[in-house]
Amino acid sequence: MDNVAELKLPSPLVELEDDRVARHGVRVFLKRDDLIHPEFPGNKWRKLKYNVAAAREQGASTLLTFGGAYSNHIRAVAAAGRHFGFETVGFIRGEKHEPLNDSLAYAVRNGMRLEYVDRETYRQKHKLEFGDAYVIPEGGANALGVRGCAELVGEIDVDFDVLCCACGTGSTLAGVANGLAEHQRALGFAVLKGAGFLNDDVKALQKAAFGEATANWSIELDFHFGGYAKRKPSLDEFIAGFEQFALDWVYEAKMMYGLYTLIESGRFERGTTLVALIA
Ligand SMILES: *Cc1c(COP(=O)(O)O)cnc(C)c1O
Repeated sequence: MDNVAELKLPSPLVELEDDRVARHGVRVFLKRDDLIHPEFPGNKWRKLKYNVAAAREQGASTLLTFGGAYSNHIRAVAAAGRHFGFETVGFIRGEKHEPLNDSLAYAVRNGMRLEYVDRETYRQKHKLEFGDAYVIPEGGANALGVRGCAELVGEIDVDFDVLCCACGTGSTLAGVANGLAEHQRALGFAVLKGAGFLNDDVKALQKAAFGEATANWSIELDFHFGGYAKRKPSLDEFIAGFEQFALDWVYEAKMMYGLYTLIESGRFERGTTLVALIA
């Protein structure tokens, strides 16, 4: 699947040039997974790669998945389906609102059939029947998705101590933590409010993907800015002051804000090298 034209792999690694970081004696590199592909960027591609391969192997003609109305994962599955010759169905939590927002309009343009389900049904979605479609869980959070994420660690060609990533479902964190060497640690930044449950979810995802959980990661829970897809003026100011490129505010801006806060509070010893995953 790596031979898809236009896939930019390995994704670029660039050093962050910022006095606010240099002053504290640490180095930060940005792993630009957001540049992997315009239609299924970042961890969305990493998580779909082995799922698409498995769907092919099983002879499935349809990819079926779930998400909220603003889901990047829904967009990515729709695009991947069009690219790799699958029909796609997206179960969307909540009611239909017309006109469709950008994400859903994009999914429909890429041939995805949308089914709207109320919140209760959505919660019970494991009870629905899907025929012989290949089912990918919300956010691509399954063992194959986690294994795809683990691979990105091997692409990082600087010696680093800490790998940071934003956490939605926690699958990216589960994967990358498993790919680390003995002296390295992974640090996740939850973008949801009250996301303590992620500690169990990440363990479960690691067990499903690799047979056991690792003890080399932790999750920061205080940088959610009010919850998923919520923002505050302090976050907007941070984004405006970040000069390297436009930060995605749902995920990566919250991680970078959290990372700067920790750096400025002296959390990392001088000489520490960090990699921040821009997914
Ligand atoms: C989906 C997404 C995430 C969340 O990844 P998880 O593996 O679900 O934790 C982070 N960043 C970006 C840009 C995303 O699109």
